[in-house]
Parts: sequence; C-alpha cells; structure tokens
Amino acid sequence: MWMSLLCAGGQGRAEERIEGPAINLLVFSSRTALVASGIAPILGQNFSARIETFTAEMPSGVESKKTSDPVRYSAVSFLEHMRGVRQDGVMLALTDAPLYYPGFSRVFGLSQPSYGVSVVSVAFFGSREGDLCERAVKTATHELGHLYGLAHCTDPFCAMFFSYGLSDTDRKLARFCPGCEEKLSINLERRHMTWLER
Ligand SMILES: [Zn+2]
Ligand SMILES: [Zn+2]
Repeated sequence: MWMSLLCAGGQGRAEERIEGPAINLLVFSSRTALVASGIAPILGQNFSARIETFTAEMPSGVESKKTSDPVRYSAVSFLEHMRGVRQDGVMLALTDAPLYYPGFSRVFGLSQPSYGVSVVSVAFFGSREGDLCERAVKTATHELGHLYGLAHCTDPFCAMFFSYGLSDTDRKLARFCPGCEEKLSINLERRHMTWLER
C-alpha cells in the first residue's frame, strides 16, 4: 500500500534498545486509520515499542464554542478527554479535526506528558498523500518524544525541533539527533517518564 511505501525507511536499530511501553494510536476516521497504519512501523522503531491502533468515536465537547468559522477543536480539551480513556502505555490520537491552542490557531500536535497523552492533527498537512504521511510521522515522533521526557531541540533536522510552520516540519527528520537519541535511551532504561509515576 502506498502509505507503507512512503513511510518506509526507519533506522532499524530497535533491536538494540530495551523494549518500551506500548504506544496506543487512537483514530476517528478511515483516513486517519490509513495514516496510522503507515506511520506505526516507524514509531515502533523510534521508541522500540509495540504499537496498537484503536478506532473510536470523536470525543464530544472538544469543539470550540467561540470560533465557529472555521470550526476549531480545543487541543487541550482533546487531551483532557484522552486522559480519561488512557489505559496502559501512552496514547496518541490522530485526528482530521483542526486544533487550536490559546495563541495558536493552527496546532499540529500537543502533548501532556504527566497524563501520557498526545494529539496530532493532520488537518493542516495538505492533501497530497506523501506529504500527509511524512508530516504525520514527524509530528507523532515529536509528540511522543515529549511523552518520553524529551524537550525541544535546537537542531533543525531533529524531530524535537519546534515547528513554527510546515517548512520546519518538512525540513526535519522523523528521528532524533544523537543528543536526543541518547536522552531517550536513558529515559527508557531508567523509566524516566512522568506518566509512569502515577
Ligand atoms: Zn513540542
Ligand atoms: Zn535533538
């Protein structure tokens, strides 16, 4: 399938790592289900984790009451909802819904490390299939990086570089720089993830 092909090419170093906690992908549409199946192998390699995908109903109450045109969904409310449904491991929602955060009208992704939850929106990633998949896997790697204790990075090619716009997302890679990679290994080994402490 095209998604798998376009998303192929992880680092192939997962075997060297300790087996990490499961990553649960939550999808709400057939489009995001397709994206999830395309990006899952790379996420699995990046975090040495087993990836499970679940289909769910779009959570209610996350739609913005203030801005009706265009409709936006609150990224914060999304994470609050996911906090209530998360079980083992971390949970990342992939949604078509355009998200906002106070001060940001277009949010690509948001995480709450203490809850172990992230959300990634593909709403602003364009309609070209390749773009959609590439941007989704980079953004998901970034958000999951936060859940695994990584902060923003100044290396513009590192997945943990903050994306001010799509040009940043397109420049960076779906993997970490050596410094972030090392920190991730340490966090996995010592289980330094805030959501594990709850
Ligand atoms: Zn970030
Ligand atoms: Zn980095």
